[in-house]
Amino acid sequence: MKATEGTVTTPQAPEPGMTITCQQVVEVITDYLEDVMDPDLRSEFDSHLTLCPGCAEYLAQMRQTIHALGYVPETSLSPQAQAELLEAFHDLYPNARSRR
Ligand SMILES: [Zn+2]
Repeated sequence: MKATEGTVTTPQAPEPGMTITCQQVVEVITDYLEDVMDPDLRSEFDSHLTLCPGCAEYLAQMRQTIHALGYVPETSLSPQAQAELLEAFHDLYPNARSRR
């Protein structure tokens, strides 16, 4: 008997939300907020947010920034700030693998 769905996790079948990395979320978040994101990527993005509180928090902060400014900031984070943020994510979620 074969189980097509169940408890066994296979590396070649990533869960929805795990094919996008935290790095990518940071890179494309302005597209998401401007609602110009590809629908497939957007659904992946949404799935990632439900799995990754770090990115969900980042999105919430971006939304607050936008609310305060009235528009989507072009460059809200310096590359160094992005790197520190991503490092913090990895500390929180050591099981989340990021691909380069
Ligand atoms: Zn994330």
